[in-house]
Amino acid sequence: TKWVYSFGDGKAEGKASMRNLLGGKGANLAEMCNLGLPVPPGFTITTEVCTAYYAGGKRYPEALREQVDAALAQVGALTGKRFGDAEHPLLVSVRSGARASMPGMMDTVLNLGLNDETVEALARNAGDPRFAYDSYRRFITMYANVVLGVEHHAFEEALEHYKESKGASLDTDLGAEDWKTLVSTYKRIVRDEHGAEFPQSPQDQLWGAIGAVFDSWMIPRAKKYRELNAIPESWGTAVNVQAMVFGNMGDTSATGVAFTRNPSTGEKALYGEFLINAQGEDVVAGIRTPQDITEKARQEAGSEKPSMERAMPESFSELTRIYGLLEKHYRDMQDMEFTIESGKLWMLQTRNGKRTAKAALRIAVELAGEGLISREEAVGRVEPGALDQLLHPTIDPKAERKVIASGLPASPGAASGEIVFSSEAAEAARKAGRPCILVRIETSPEDIHGMHAAEGILTTRGGMTSHAAVVARGMGKPCVSGVGAIRIDYKAGTLAVGPVTLKAGDKLTIDGSTGQVIQGEVAMVAPELSGDFATLMGWADEVRTMGIRANADTPTDARTAREFGAEGIGLCRTEHMFFEGDRIVAVREMILSDDVEGRRAALAKILPYQRQDFLALFTIMQGLPVTIRLLDPPLHEFLPHTDAEVAEVAAGTGVSEDKLRHRMRELSEFNPMLGFRGCRLAIAFPEIAEMQARAIFEAAVEAARKTGAPVTPEVMVPLVFTRAEFDIVKARIDAMAKAVAEETGESVEYQVGTMIELPRACLRAKEIAETAEFFSFGTNDLTQTGLGISRDDAGTFLGAYTQKGILEADPFVTIDQEGVGELVRIGVERGRQSRPDIKLGICGEHGGDPASIHFCQEVGLDYVSCSPFRVPIARLAAAQAAL
Ligand code: PEP
Ligand code: MG
Repeated sequence: TKWVYSFGDGKAEGKASMRNLLGGKGANLAEMCNLGLPVPPGFTITTEVCTAYYAGGKRYPEALREQVDAALAQVGALTGKRFGDAEHPLLVSVRSGARASMPGMMDTVLNLGLNDETVEALARNAGDPRFAYDSYRRFITMYANVVLGVEHHAFEEALEHYKESKGASLDTDLGAEDWKTLVSTYKRIVRDEHGAEFPQSPQDQLWGAIGAVFDSWMIPRAKKYRELNAIPESWGTAVNVQAMVFGNMGDTSATGVAFTRNPSTGEKALYGEFLINAQGEDVVAGIRTPQDITEKARQEAGSEKPSMERAMPESFSELTRIYGLLEKHYRDMQDMEFTIESGKLWMLQTRNGKRTAKAALRIAVELAGEGLISREEAVGRVEPGALDQLLHPTIDPKAERKVIASGLPASPGAASGEIVFSSEAAEAARKAGRPCILVRIETSPEDIHGMHAAEGILTTRGGMTSHAAVVARGMGKPCVSGVGAIRIDYKAGTLAVGPVTLKAGDKLTIDGSTGQVIQGEVAMVAPELSGDFATLMGWADEVRTMGIRANADTPTDARTAREFGAEGIGLCRTEHMFFEGDRIVAVREMILSDDVEGRRAALAKILPYQRQDFLALFTIMQGLPVTIRLLDPPLHEFLPHTDAEVAEVAAGTGVSEDKLRHRMRELSEFNPMLGFRGCRLAIAFPEIAEMQARAIFEAAVEAARKTGAPVTPEVMVPLVFTRAEFDIVKARIDAMAKAVAEETGESVEYQVGTMIELPRACLRAKEIAETAEFFSFGTNDLTQTGLGISRDDAGTFLGAYTQKGILEADPFVTIDQEGVGELVRIGVERGRQSRPDIKLGICGEHGGDPASIHFCQEVGLDYVSCSPFRVPIARLAAAQAAL
């Protein structure tokens, strides 16, 4: 087996496509060699060695030593040196390099091969003993730290001590003799801390470092990282051994990092930092302030120190040539590491650079504009979830944050304001022009007005599909939910977390993108929907095959949805409309009356409002499809809570408060989410569904007259588990359509379909589809009932499930493909058995989640529906799913 791949002198045994075998770094080093770029010669020990090492009980494959020796000899031949030689010693760097970049692993050992003898040779050959001993002490520190496990600070303290004793303030104040003295001190520290001498044999050093790279594959930090990023353990890491080039050989030497485009803005300009007379770790360590690479960047930063463009013009123009070449070759923004040794530029690494969402958009659009990539590729280059960063205000990354607690990142964006503990207080603050954060244990539909009034919402209970989370996402308001550490005292008007107690009126900031709760106000940056955003969205629309609709209940939602490119409404939750203005009183009258007449009287009051609501939606949507769901309340949300509210209903209906209270007790439920909700209400009280159907059809007639664009309402029945339920409700709707047609002389095209949101409905989808004209998968309830996890209480324990790896992701965010997804699959298949062209959509929160959208494409749904602010994300994700 070939375990070792060499590179150097314009050729390499590997190439970029061999990333799995050589790791990212090794594959790109080989590729750069093949491109004829100046890369110090070296070799890569493959990821297969890592796998074999662990399979064999931490023993190397037999032929490895031989192959490493041969590769080392070849590097020596190319550099005119020999590993361990007393006259012309070859020194190497040893670095890890997994397939995917992996923080947490052993990183780098430089200057390996130095010992008491070779350091003298280095001093002689370079004519600079200070450089040689500085390199040696760096090697001892690095090696002792990453291979022998001796902590850095032991060396740092010794260095500080020494500098003090010499009255020196900077490392550069120290000379050759000083470093020589420190080298002996460092070796003594190693002996004390490690219990053995610092290894003098270059071979021992090399195998020690290689072993440390492989061992670091299994350290907890690396394991954790793999777990979080779904990187399989079986991938293993490669090891790169490469001839040293020195950036610390005086003032014509330097080391640096550069991006081919600005990673935070995407601007096409070489961007980066370098340090003269330094080695790699100095740039990262931040001991010295690095200098800018281009003159333009230096001027913009107002820096005194010369740019690389000025200080090292030849190396700069060489770097400029190379970066252009690398970007063309890789067809993406590159992040490069380089070293200049005595005026000669060497490339040490290149890879696709990490970038912000804003930069990703701009780079993708511009690369396509430059003809380097196709539009489809550009669409694939931007992570849909990252668009969230662009659609909402976010916390200024430079701002300081005093984080006092954290919860679930329930709805993205950040907001600051004074703390209010009730929706009434939120409205009052709003009227007074004071921004506020609504802080509640949990929210209910009654809080809608308060949520509207607030800049952001914080709850201490509830998961990602709790009421607060769903509604906030719908409104595009930041929300942090389930902050269990915060205790709210409504009476006292305080919240407490650890030693911090805040009262109503105190300033608070929430970051709905991270879940952080921050004391005080923090600076924000506004969203910026630049031209690049619109361009890329347009390209995405050309590619995707699924439709994108929005979950929208209000005219504001509907307008936002259209602005973001929604092609219809996939879910209008009518229960939210019942809380607008003072309608709730009539709604309570309806629910609490114990006879049909009482209900009809109350419904008559509600009808005009409903018609108005639907007319507004139909008008905004201009002929696009609108799915309206019949009332789906957990009933308790509508019941009066306070004595005053009970009195109000009594006054409205003429029924005694006692009788009302009796009725409330009758209606109270242990488990409202599994109680009197969904179509069960329409079955028991058909007059409610009739009123809603009338409102829908009358509004449709009126909207068509007004706008000339006839709407096709899709009336949707919730929480069905058997065809019989659906048929009963559908009969009422059809009858009402007929009645309205007769009254108005105009008939409306419409469809009646159902939510599929209970496991039994998936199983019986074939029969249900015999009469239902469309399905919309309600994956919120399907997850709740499929997993038996209450969507309102999940916050308290789900965290432990994802942490322990029992669940990969919150199933209320990303669809549980194996379970809930399987139910959806069954529903799709069986539904199509009786109605092959049945229209299929999804309107649970998963409709806005990129991973779930891929799944929807896979099972062949016609559209996804999500909250308005997620529409752009869904458009992009659907495009990528179709690629
Ligand atoms: C669902 O259950 O997925 C759904 C969309 O309905 P709701 O969230 O209103 O229960
Ligand atoms: Mg539901």
